[in-house]
Formats: sequence, structure tokens, C-alpha cells
Amino acid sequence: MNRFLLVEDDPASLTLLNEILNTHGHCDLVVDGREAVIASRLALEDQTPYDLICLDIMMPRLGGVQALKEIRRLERQHKLPPDAAAKVMMVSALEDSQTMVEALYEGHANAYLVKPIEKDKLVRELKNLGLLTANGATRRQPPPE
Ligand SMILES: [Mg+2]
Repeated sequence: MNRFLLVEDDPASLTLLNEILNTHGHCDLVVDGREAVIASRLALEDQTPYDLICLDIMMPRLGGVQALKEIRRLERQHKLPPDAAAKVMMVSALEDSQTMVEALYEGHANAYLVKPIEKDKLVRELKNLGLLTANGATRRQPPPE
């Protein structure tokens, strides 16, 4: 089953992401970048890394771009093979688009979603990232015991 980490400081957006994604995998929900880094580290230590991280950009304590750099550093530190690294979707308002583009160009993020969050757009991105098959079933196999 897919493991998703949803990172968003706006409760309504976090709830919406969860409602859309929890039919496609297990979702862990956190509210800022610092919690995202901690959740990612624990998942790596448990050898159950996230398949997808949905990451808001503007958040208190630690923003999405900085959190993502730290998460990628942890993945390298744990020697995670590139194909096992989390797919990362930046989720933010249009006024943050420059930040999202920079995150993509620097290779830290794989996709972006402009708010308002819409189910069709989000599901399309999941398919593009290889996290869903055309009929909506999860494709990725669980790791061996
Ligand atoms: Mg925010």
C-alpha cells in the first residue's frame, strides 16, 4: 500500500488532501515542515519510506522548500536508492509558483499542484508520478519483509 505524508498548515486544505488521498494509500498528516522532517526520518529509520509527500510551501516554523532539502539529505544519509526516494508534490498558491519552479529545477520536487486543491488535478498528478494505475488501483508493491 502507498504511504503518503501530507504536510499542510491550513486545516481545511489538509482535510481535503486526506479525503482525496486516503482511498489510495495510508496517509500521515503533519502541520509544518519540522514535523515533516521528523516523520520522514522516522519512516526512513523504520524502512518504510513515504511513496509520496504532499508539501505546502508557506508554513510556520519550517517552510516546504527547506523541509524538502532536509528530507532529501536524510534520504541520501540512509542510502535510499533513487527509485525508492519519495515522490514530492509541492502544493501551494499561485503566488508561490516561482518557489515551486525553483524546487522542481533543483531536482528536489517531482510535481506541483496549484491551489485550490481539486480532486481531478490531484489524481492526474498521482497517475503521472506512477502512484496510480489508470483504474485508480495502487501500483507500487509493498517492500519485502
Ligand atoms: Mg501554508
